[in-house]
Amino acid sequence: MSCQQDERYMARAIQLAKIGRYTTDPNPRVGCVLVRDGVIISEGWHVKAGFGHAETVALENISDAQGTTAYVTLEPCSHHGKTPPCCDALIKAGVVRVVVAMQDPNPLVSGRGLEKLKSSGIEVCCGVLQADARSLNRGFIKRMTHQRPFVRSKLAMSLDGRTAMASGESQWITCAQARADVHQLRAESSAILTGINTVLADDPLLNARVDWPIQQPIRVILDSNLRMPLTAKMTKLEGRSLILTVSTDEQKHQALKSVGFEVYNLPAKNTNLNLHAVMEFLHQQQINEVLVEAGSVLNGALLMEDLVDEWLIYMAPCVLGDQARGLFSLPGLKVMKDKKDLTLRDVRQFGPDLKLTLS
Ligand SMILES: [Zn+2]
Repeated sequence: MSCQQDERYMARAIQLAKIGRYTTDPNPRVGCVLVRDGVIISEGWHVKAGFGHAETVALENISDAQGTTAYVTLEPCSHHGKTPPCCDALIKAGVVRVVVAMQDPNPLVSGRGLEKLKSSGIEVCCGVLQADARSLNRGFIKRMTHQRPFVRSKLAMSLDGRTAMASGESQWITCAQARADVHQLRAESSAILTGINTVLADDPLLNARVDWPIQQPIRVILDSNLRMPLTAKMTKLEGRSLILTVSTDEQKHQALKSVGFEVYNLPAKNTNLNLHAVMEFLHQQQINEVLVEAGSVLNGALLMEDLVDEWLIYMAPCVLGDQARGLFSLPGLKVMKDKKDLTLRDVRQFGPDLKLTLS
């Protein structure tokens, strides 16, 4: 089998894996195709946690998989989770060759599935379209290897780098197409993180308004002093709303829990939440990808602590003037050598606006 052929089938497996990108949390997105004599005879992808893995779905779709090659975007599992190990299923079905895009990122099991397949006589090839497979599961990989989620922060600004008027009024700087793109970002995310000041200013819903089936992101609000209003609009929504705080005011804890919030005490840094502890907490909650939608104070703090993996900045061709609010509150920066440098990764246009991706 030529490398080109392997890439073609793996590209199809990655395409299938992508179907799960709105629903598989906290599991990774995985796709699989079974090929015999140059023909794809079955396909599968992981739909959601508790459902079958991509390999078993593909195997269940056909009566005979003898002599096939399996293309899988992630190393097949060799351990008993909610479902039996996929390695055993591939071996039992008579698959003769397994091509995978990347090893399991979990250091506790990485490589074990491939070893198991090899030791039962199956030819194994690893690393086909690895970069594409890795980018599909950035959050899962980050959580497994760094014990924290992949964090993206989304900001909307004017041509002069302003995000809101001095009064806090910010709706809307960007165009409808850019805002629709944000709902897609939310739909792909495991959680949306914001600060209490944003909630007090905008009373946001923090949900993804898209017209296809998704698992809604978990809402996470940093609220050091428990200022969350009991009447916030998000209390009317289904799904989890988490408040992270340093306040031990039991009365406030109980009041917020009574309207549906989950309230957690986390370690402080000075009088605010320790942001590293926040990321550790999100990892414990099995959150793969976080979308930050916050104001200049939280974004400034995240930038200083180097906790954002990717910045998504929508820039509209308007001017808000120098009384308006900036992107980042960074009171510590005084001289040019203190400046924070980012790298531009991508630029694209949405209607009249630009979307900049930086890291
Ligand atoms: Zn599996």
